[in-house]
Amino acid sequence: MSCIFCKIIKGEIPSLKLFESEKTLAFLDIGPLSKGHSLIIPKFHGAKLHDIPDDQLAEVLSVTKKIALAQGVQNYNILQNNGRIAHQEVDHVHFHLIPKPNETEGLG
Ligand code: 5GP
Ligand code: ZN
Repeated sequence: MSCIFCKIIKGEIPSLKLFESEKTLAFLDIGPLSKGHSLIIPKFHGAKLHDIPDDQLAEVLSVTKKIALAQGVQNYNILQNNGRIAHQEVDHVHFHLIPKPNETEGLG
């Protein structure tokens, strides 16, 4: 399996992990668009959203919500790309959580 994110799950590629459970992993994006930009993935390998079982997706979304709460930012984007034309680079489903801090939050 040459999937980068499966290698991250197995610990074969290092990552800065924020959360891990039996079904889900969250870690910091290596090329952050803002401070705290994280990726939340199901451990089940599937390239696109429609390849992932509902129970896995439900947990991924729940974890995404908890990380947003834990980061304490009030403004953020959730992004999930499917397919090259839609700018997907890594073919293992992932949700981007991209904080949009304001100046008073000091996370610029
Ligand atoms: P996509 O364009 O597929 O939605 O986003 C892929 C994301 O994965 C990019 O934001 C990229 O920075 C991130 N990424 C790619 N390779 C690695 C890696 O080895 N480690 C981490 N932490 N993030 C990665
Ligand atoms: Zn994978």
